[in-house]
Amino acid sequence: MSATFVGMPAFPEAARRALENTQQRHNLAHATGTIRDKRAAVVAEVDDWEALRLAGAAIKDQTLRHLDDHLVALEAALQERGATVHWARDAEEACRIVADVARAHDVDEVVKVKSMATQEIGLNEALEAEGISAWETDLAELIVQLGDDLPSHILVPAIHRNRSEIREIFRSAMGEVGRPAPDPLSDDPADLAGAARLHLREKFLRARMAVSGANFAVAETGTLVVVESEGNGRMCLTLPEVLVSVVGIEKVVPTWQDLEVFLQLLPRSSTGERMNPYTSTWTGAVPGDGPQEVHVVLLDNGRTRALADEMGRQALRCIRCSACLNVCPVYERTGGHAYGSVYPGPIGAILNPLLKGTGVDEQTDSLPYASSLCGACFEACPVRIDIPSVLVELRGQVVDAHRGGVPKPEAVAMRGAGWVLSSSARTARSERAAAFAGRLLNRLPGGRRQGDRRVLGSIPMPGAGSAWSQARDVPVPATESFRDWWSRTDGGEDES
Ligand code: SF4
Repeated sequence: MSATFVGMPAFPEAARRALENTQQRHNLAHATGTIRDKRAAVVAEVDDWEALRLAGAAIKDQTLRHLDDHLVALEAALQERGATVHWARDAEEACRIVADVARAHDVDEVVKVKSMATQEIGLNEALEAEGISAWETDLAELIVQLGDDLPSHILVPAIHRNRSEIREIFRSAMGEVGRPAPDPLSDDPADLAGAARLHLREKFLRARMAVSGANFAVAETGTLVVVESEGNGRMCLTLPEVLVSVVGIEKVVPTWQDLEVFLQLLPRSSTGERMNPYTSTWTGAVPGDGPQEVHVVLLDNGRTRALADEMGRQALRCIRCSACLNVCPVYERTGGHAYGSVYPGPIGAILNPLLKGTGVDEQTDSLPYASSLCGACFEACPVRIDIPSVLVELRGQVVDAHRGGVPKPEAVAMRGAGWVLSSSARTARSERAAAFAGRLLNRLPGGRRQGDRRVLGSIPMPGAGSAWSQARDVPVPATESFRDWWSRTDGGEDES
């Protein structure tokens, strides 16, 4: 797969291009609408949904507060049960660890369970550079991989594709990397799933090594947990001899009791199901049962940077359910590619700048602005991440990162307004000057009225300002300031 997010333009440019794709907009509106309705129905069934959300947020916050202790406990529990634990500071280290394990076992292909962490670090591309093929086994990930495409949704990476597009991808690409698609092949979902099943089965049976992520890592026993819907994860986690799991350090939960809360929140928020069809748990290596060599790569890659951000650290509560994407009016129109990352939508708009830092590149800096701040994401989030507040905070950080040099007209105007408004005397003088200007302007002939107020019409402004000013009429300033009106009428008592 050669498609890459590297070099993607900033969000406004990428969004403009995406909006021209009417087929994609149609596919997205249909898919997100369907998932939204399913989620709303199953969430409404749970009387204590709000209490569950609060519990999920509290468990995550408490765990993040003592993350170092929980990670050390997780490492000890994993090692006690025969797993090898690796620590990876960044994407490069994590990819190298996985490639080293593959080389040590002389394998040239691995099967993969859908994993956001491995996509984040670009593992498939890194393995490909080492001559190792990484086969995605989740149906949607398979569609993206065969189509030489990029994922556009956390949970449904091929959400931008419809059935007939998928059929064409299967027909043209499956034969190049394994068992070809049956001929003829209809675009009936059952037929498409059947083709994928046959294609993947030979890979499951042949592969000696698998790579996964984990939805959760239970520190008290060293147990990793993967939730999925297709059974491909179960095949990868049980058949191969060697299993490597790349796990973000924020995935740790202290106990099984904590896990119970998330196993209720996740399926309802993600696929709109009461329970997900497959929940796989494994604890180290068990002689004669499943992979006999188990490696766990604990991945930082910017997570400790996010943890240090007082407002932004709540993003590490995320359980990757994608509910925020499905309710976001911006995501629904632009799709995921416009965000230039494996993490699109509202969570991507905060997670990417938190992991990478602000002021580093234009594309990342554009993401906190990819929102109308409507707040739908916060309402939908099962762990109550206040995405709008984090977006506002990050916008401030982006502005701070670009301070210096020639100030923009807006900055000069704001500084001037700040100087005037910071003094009561200056504010009063400016109000009187505005009232005087208002009286003069009211005497001029012509002009228009809006209600009982004259308007000056639009004022030509340079650059981006013209788009704003041309759509607005500037009113003539009030002929009397509020303070003057107050003292003249004694607070409205002597109004005449
Ligand atoms: S931010 Fe919340 S709603 Fe969005 S993916 Fe993460 S947990 Fe789900």
